[in-house]
Amino acid sequence: MSRLGNEGAFEVLVRARELEAQGKEVIHLEIGEPDFPTAPNIVDAAKSALDRGWTHYGPPAGFPELRQAVAEDVGRRRGISVDPAEVVITPGAKPIMFYTILALAEPGDEVLYPDPGFPIYSSMINFVRAMPVPYGMPEERGFDIDVKEIVGKISDRTRLIILNSPNNPTGGMISRAEMETLVEALKDREVMVLSDEIYSRLIYSGEHVTPAAFPEQRDRVIILDGFSKTYAMTGWRLGYGVMRADLARQIALLMTNSNSCTASFTQMAGVEALRGDQSSVSAMLERFRQRREVIVDGLNRIQGFSCLTPQGAFYAFPNIRETGKRSRELADALLNEAGVACLSGTAFGQQGEGYLRFSFANSIENIKKALDRIDTWVKKNL
Ligand code: PMP
Repeated sequence: MSRLGNEGAFEVLVRARELEAQGKEVIHLEIGEPDFPTAPNIVDAAKSALDRGWTHYGPPAGFPELRQAVAEDVGRRRGISVDPAEVVITPGAKPIMFYTILALAEPGDEVLYPDPGFPIYSSMINFVRAMPVPYGMPEERGFDIDVKEIVGKISDRTRLIILNSPNNPTGGMISRAEMETLVEALKDREVMVLSDEIYSRLIYSGEHVTPAAFPEQRDRVIILDGFSKTYAMTGWRLGYGVMRADLARQIALLMTNSNSCTASFTQMAGVEALRGDQSSVSAMLERFRQRREVIVDGLNRIQGFSCLTPQGAFYAFPNIRETGKRSRELADALLNEAGVACLSGTAFGQQGEGYLRFSFANSIENIKKALDRIDTWVKKNL
């Protein structure tokens, strides 16, 4: 238990709520969830599923209807063919991370993961007593990976490489050139890749490149994706993994041993999300795009902050080294003294020192207010 880590976003959310309970007003730019409601057609599908009795256990790997819909959607969007037997439905996408690391990494095995990166990767690697091997996504490269670094860190014990594009927390993406080089380097190695593609439909510029689209790597890629971000369904808990069928059967067995299955009526809503009207997805992306302009522009005007424009997801990751403050210290001060909740870059690994993460899943009005508060705090205190 002592090897399990925490997720900064939830920790800061708790502290922000405590401040609010004391009567302070906090602007929430810490948690990574769309502030939009789930689209009505999806909510209606869930209500109708409840009325029609989708209230019982289902198959551990998910209902055939949803596995089929996921196979078609993932296949069409990535230009690959996916069989429903390769799909496992889980309560949120996070269990795919949990289960695949549990399934693939033995004690002493090495697992490469991005730093800065989603904190649950290293937590789970440590949990199973595997060796966490961080690789960078440096600002100098526009937060792209550097395959030379990754290849230099691969050893005989490397079992798994975790990729995340678009990346949380940087908003950076893996370029086609780097992905091609990586796939080439992995050609003759028995290394699996967990490709966390949860933000793949939240892209403002550039293309999403999945390692699963390279035939030579296809069998060794697990795609992680879900409904939380794309369809503003974080609280529904609905996600999936796409992996070769033999591994899918094992992951389904982990479902049998833990959750039994994902909620049945939620899965029916998932079918509607994938097959129904997609206009809410593009409308949300447009709103995020506008907010991105406002937050990046605003952060770059603050003394000591400099912020690249994120290509995807809904996070801005400004460099704050020029303020002379450590990330954690600055994030704490902004929460306690300016009423702005954000995350220290170090919540995403050691390489996050010198950065803060702001989620722009909040209204333009609140983002502007937060920027004003930060600016005022910086002028007064630095
Ligand atoms: N991967 C990344 C990179 C994420 O940021 C998140 C959510 N914060 C997830 C996976 C998990 O998503 P879900 O809510 O579907 O479990």
